[in-house]
Amino acid sequence: MKVFLQTFGCQMNKLDSAIIESSLRDAGYQFVDNAKNADVVLLNTCSVRDHAEQRVMSHLGNLKHIKETKSDLVVAVIGCMAQRLGDELFKQSAVDIVCGPAQIAEIPRLITEAMQEKKKAVAVTEKIRQVSPDAQLLERFEIEYSGDDTDIPAQAYVRAMHGCDKFCSYCVVPYVRGPETSRPPEAIIEQTKRLAQNGVKQITLLGQRINAYEYKAGDKTYCLADLLGMISKIDGVEWLKFVTSYPSQKYFKEIVQAMAELPKVCRYLHIPAQSGSDQILKAMNRGYTSAEYLELLDTARQIVPDIAIAGDFIVGFPGETDEDFAQTVDLVKKARYKNSFIFKYSPRPGTIADKRLEDNVAQEIKERRNHELLKVQEEISRALAAEFTGQTVKVLVEGPSKKSHQAGNLPQLIGRTAGDWIAVFNGPPASAGETPRLAGRFANVKITRTTPLTLFGELF
Ligand code: SF4
Repeated sequence: MKVFLQTFGCQMNKLDSAIIESSLRDAGYQFVDNAKNADVVLLNTCSVRDHAEQRVMSHLGNLKHIKETKSDLVVAVIGCMAQRLGDELFKQSAVDIVCGPAQIAEIPRLITEAMQEKKKAVAVTEKIRQVSPDAQLLERFEIEYSGDDTDIPAQAYVRAMHGCDKFCSYCVVPYVRGPETSRPPEAIIEQTKRLAQNGVKQITLLGQRINAYEYKAGDKTYCLADLLGMISKIDGVEWLKFVTSYPSQKYFKEIVQAMAELPKVCRYLHIPAQSGSDQILKAMNRGYTSAEYLELLDTARQIVPDIAIAGDFIVGFPGETDEDFAQTVDLVKKARYKNSFIFKYSPRPGTIADKRLEDNVAQEIKERRNHELLKVQEEISRALAAEFTGQTVKVLVEGPSKKSHQAGNLPQLIGRTAGDWIAVFNGPPASAGETPRLAGRFANVKITRTTPLTLFGELF
């Protein structure tokens, strides 16, 4: 049986897809890169933005046409959109299976049933705040996941936490991913050792609020700093990253201290601010002020002076005035992020902002603010990137660059530094047979020129 799996959204979804792929391969399925050649199509969906959901709907329209000539095709919608919409998705005639993120361990069984019994099936937790009965099965899937099928060789995501308890007013995640729960440290360590034995060199710990990781065992409470220390001792793991951090004092110093003291922990922090206006932060239910946020960045830079920091922002949140936006611009200038992910607000059904706040910032104002903030960030990124010129940086090589072109017989490769900067450089001559072997290995690159988001250089 051939499976086509398409993933939308964040790293958490990528990890879920990797685990599903690993379990289906173990069950004998093959993976193909086109829905037309598949017996089973899995769409792992994202609900964070309306645009992501619309793309899935359009794919389902295309799949309906494929099914007209291939009636045995099984189509499953999995992930956050499945959890949010449940059996409503069956209104799309192509859909056979709807499966939420907490039930992914059920997918092999659901596919078999859909094929043999030709029945539509929905697997979503009725009460997302309750721990799913499949939690143990999912935990086993996670531990056994080999890491072989990630798009980046020698790197693997490891989930440290499920769900989120923050309920930021604009965000759908707590409704679709359920309550915040930290995985036991021993399960994470067992999984990480297995990954390292399989050749994984970079581990990225995942959690919606990864710095809130907390696991009580007897009279000991483990926080993220403890986890970083324990994983650092595993042979084979060379770089250790974690995303996404939430601006909060709790454990913050301990975590940054661990970054300073543990050489394997990459000096990179992705810590979304979302706005620089205290009034908007309050309406977003973020629980901190812009001054408190900047204090956290100061603390991080005092302890780890060369830390690379990335941010996220939403522009055009309900009620955002020119003055609120000016405060966001001001915060971005003070924070000096290496890069920022900037989004225009769009209401998500069921969230507090959707129910209680009017989406009253005009689309063209959202566009203008988005553009303006990107320009401000671009200038900061340009200046920070330029500081690398003449330096030699260590990168984990991911493979050929997307825009790869042959410079003579030198293929262009892409790699990422510990601080998450992207480096593009010419690989060794193809005739030397080195290029495939460089993917998944560390390399030193001497930087010769830079753009705001990319460092360009030569192998050193
Ligand atoms: S911290 Fe806020 S924005 Fe992040 S996942 Fe939780 S609710 Fe959503």
